[in-house]
Formats: sequence, C-alpha cells, structure tokens
Amino acid sequence: MSADKLLNYIDGAWVQSSAQSYLNVVNPATAEVLGQVPLSPGAEVDRAAQAAAAAQKEWVNVPVEDRIQYLFKLKVLLEENFEDLARTITMEAGKTLAESRGEMRRAIENVEVACGTPMLMQGQIMEDIARGIDEMMIRQPVGVCAMIVPFNFPGMISFWFFPYAIATGNTCIVKPSEKVPLTTTKIFKLIEQTGLPKGVMNMVNGAKETVDAILDHPTIRAISFVGSTPVARYIYSRGAANGKRVQAQGGAKNPIIILPDADVEMSTRIAADSFFGCAGQRCLAASVAVTVGEARDIFTETLAEAAATRVTGNGLDESVQMGPVITPQSRERIEGLIQKGVDGGASLLVDGRNPSIPGGESGNFVRPTVLNNVDPNSEIARTEIFGPVVSMIHLNTIDQAIEFVNSNKYGNMACLFTSSGAAARKFRNQAQAGNIGINIGVAAPMAFFPFSGWKDSFFGTLHAQGRHSIEFFTQTKVVVERWPQEWSRVF
Ligand code: NAD
Repeated sequence: MSADKLLNYIDGAWVQSSAQSYLNVVNPATAEVLGQVPLSPGAEVDRAAQAAAAAQKEWVNVPVEDRIQYLFKLKVLLEENFEDLARTITMEAGKTLAESRGEMRRAIENVEVACGTPMLMQGQIMEDIARGIDEMMIRQPVGVCAMIVPFNFPGMISFWFFPYAIATGNTCIVKPSEKVPLTTTKIFKLIEQTGLPKGVMNMVNGAKETVDAILDHPTIRAISFVGSTPVARYIYSRGAANGKRVQAQGGAKNPIIILPDADVEMSTRIAADSFFGCAGQRCLAASVAVTVGEARDIFTETLAEAAATRVTGNGLDESVQMGPVITPQSRERIEGLIQKGVDGGASLLVDGRNPSIPGGESGNFVRPTVLNNVDPNSEIARTEIFGPVVSMIHLNTIDQAIEFVNSNKYGNMACLFTSSGAAARKFRNQAQAGNIGINIGVAAPMAFFPFSGWKDSFFGTLHAQGRHSIEFFTQTKVVVERWPQEWSRVF
C-alpha cells in the first residue's frame, strides 16, 4: 500500500481535496505510513451536500425494489473482496485478522437486512376512521443524511446506517474516521462498481472542521454519529440546534458480573475475549469484572492466567490473539490510567505496560492488564479506558452488583455469568443498560435488532440497525381521505 493522498468521492467522481493539511494514516503495529488523509474544508461538504440533494430528487422516485438491487450487488462485491477488506482493517486499525473478518461479516449482515426494506418500510392504512373516510400513514425519506464514524470499526459502523438510508430513498455523505480512512475508501470503490446513480453515496474525509460543516449545513437533514461521549453530546446538541434529527452513540464502561454458580472455564474464556479482544477498543468491550461472593478467588486466578497468556502482536499474523492500540497517545493514556489505578490502591496482577513484542518495537502495544481490588468508586472503575485493561471489583451479593451497574453513567452493555435462570431474569429486568448479555461477553445486537445504548452511551431516540434505522431515515406522513360516492361517475 503506498502513502498516497486519499481522495474524496463526490457526485460519482474521485476528487482531490483542496485541504491545506493532511494527516498520516499509520499502521499501529508497525508505525508504517499507509496513506495521507485530507482534512477537507467545509466547501467540500457543501459540494457533497449539493450533489446528494440533486441526486435525492431522482432517487426518491426509484422504486424500492430497484433501490435494493444495488445492495444485492454490494453484498456480492463485499463477499468477493472480503479478505482484502479484512486485511485493510487490520493494517490501519491493528485488530487481528479474525476480528477484522468478524467485523466485515457484521457489516454485510446490515446490507442483507436492508434488502428487506420493501417489507420494513411499509406504512399503515385504516378504512372508515369515520364514515367514508380513510386514513393512512406512509413513510418517506428524510433527504440528505450524514454519517460520522469512529476509528475502532472502520469496516462496519457506516453499514449500521447507510444501507437503510439509501434503501429508504435518502442520499448520503459518509465522513470516515481520519485515523482509519483506507477501508472506507475501498468500500466506496465497491459502491461505485454497483452502478449506483451519482450523488447517492458521497464520502468526504476530514476531522472537526469537516464535521462542523456537516452539523451546520442546511441541506443535511439527519446525522448518524458513533464515537466518544463528549463528541456525541456535542454532535447531538449542535445538530439539534440546527433542526436536524440526530442519533449519536457514545462511549461506554461495561461491567461483567460473575456469580459463584457460573461455569468457570466458559466465563473466563468469554470474559477474557470481551476484556482483551480488539485490544479493548470495542464500545462493547467489558472493562470491569465484578465477582460476587465465592466467585472471587477462582475467577481472579483464571482471568489473570488468560491475560498473561494472550498472544499479542501484529494482527496480520494468524496466531496473534490481540493487536496494538490505535495511536502512541492512546497507549500513553492507557498506561497513565493503569498507574492511576495502582496509585489509587489497586494491585497489579498482570502488568501489560512496556511489553516486549518481537518485531513490534515501533507499534503501540499494551499487553492485557489486570488490576485487582479496585475501589468501585475510583476513577479507574468509572472511566472509559478503551484499552486491554480489566479492573476487578469484589462484592458480596447480586443486589450490590446490580447497584454498581446502575451507578454507571454509561449504559451501553452489562453482562451476567450464572447458571441460575432466576438470577439471569432479575439481572435482565433490573440492569440499566441497553444491551444485556447473559453468559455472553460482547452482547452485540444482530443487524435486525437495534444497537441499544442507554444513558451517556446514546443521545437520541432511534438507534442504529434494523427497524430503528428504517424509522430514523424516514418521516411519517399521515393522509386522511374522503371520496364521496356521489362524485363517482357511474360506469
Ligand atoms: P471520537 O469521538 O474521537 O471520533 C469519532 C468521530 O468524531 C470521528 O469521525 C472524528 O473525526 C470526529 N470528531 C472527533 N472529535 C471531534 C470534535 N471535537 N468535533 C467534531 N467531530 C469530532 O471517537 P474515536 O476515538 O474515533 O472512537 C472511540 C470512541 O467511540 C469510544 O469512546 C467508543 O466507546 C466509541 N464507540 C461507541 C460505539 C457505540 O456504538 N456506542 C461504537 C464504537 C465506538
């Protein structure tokens, strides 16, 4: 891969940005520069918005059955280019090849579900709401929609939105993460090959200035955002102040509760994958382990073992189980938080700082880290670390554990490991988080369920994926009709 300047894709053409500055796109495992991404100015968002608005006028009239044919073609192209996309994700985001393949599988799943739009988009009709009067509710597209996405799933997250947006008759502008824009560029090359009319899908690279231009652009009617909570809150406020509909998914601090009756081998394996998979850089990564009662000793021991033995290295090596974190700054921040945990009284059972990774001297590696006896009220127990670090907290009852879960300002995910149906039911009912796992460590909803963050993990009403997406990308129109019989000609 050469360190080329990346292009934007506007109105069906690849165009060089007029950006004054470019950022390097860097492989986090090797520090190799893979490309240069433009920080596109607002004028390029404007061009994309004009193109999308012009295209939408025609696109809305394309029958839904014809619109989804482009998605069927995209599904085939994604399958054909699956390995190349997975390798690109690994190279720019650092995760393992298995994780990148899993990510692309979930992306494709959203294309498949959006192919059901002819069923999902249907409205409702009721005859005779009063004598001789009928009423119907139809769904129509919102117009031009924008997607602003984070670094940690470069191949998947835009798919939570755009397949549904275009299938329902909208046109789109995607703003990839400036840290990992290469995968989206490849995806747009495939989108181009589907023959989709120009202007329906546009891509503008950039960072804050580009995002602000999206938030303020009068033609853009809806914004889908995924990223950290402070930025999600900002996007939601500024987008709403400009009269747009906004769905903004934010950060997380996900707990896993282990009851004494949990299967130790299975819980350890699944929980370790949640703590350390994708180097802890999933919004559904667990980062706090709460043991209840007697689960404490055995689980502390098995988890420490799982952490110490996880193979860390360059994700392109198939034997590697965990890759690097995204940037040197991220590594520094994670190591600083580990130190804060230690300074706050936690004991370091497994220390992943400054690891020696053969061949990974230039990479941003932190090995799996386990902090034990963490104070439930400490900063480390409450801050999103977004790295392979687990804080262990030991409590005595399930009620205390649920209280801890519910004191979390985030509400992305909470998981319970148990063999008791009654405990599982209580947890499912009482835990204040939008995605719940029972004997599951990463409770990622399939594409036909909403990605249901709560509290500071989500700002908005309708979430990503499935029916929620269809509703987000359509506005309802209610029509009340009267056709008096006496007006009819007699045939
Ligand atoms: P981020 O918030 O730094 O960036 C996300 C997007 O916002 C990027 O496209 C970026 O260019 C843009 N951006 C960043 N700062 C901005 C600013 N000040 N003004 C306007 N735009 C700005 O997030 P990230 O570091 O790329 O991703 C990691 C975060 O995303 C974590 O907090 C993680 O939990 C969260 N995340 C959440 C979900 C979810 O579904 N809830 C999924 C994946 C990631």
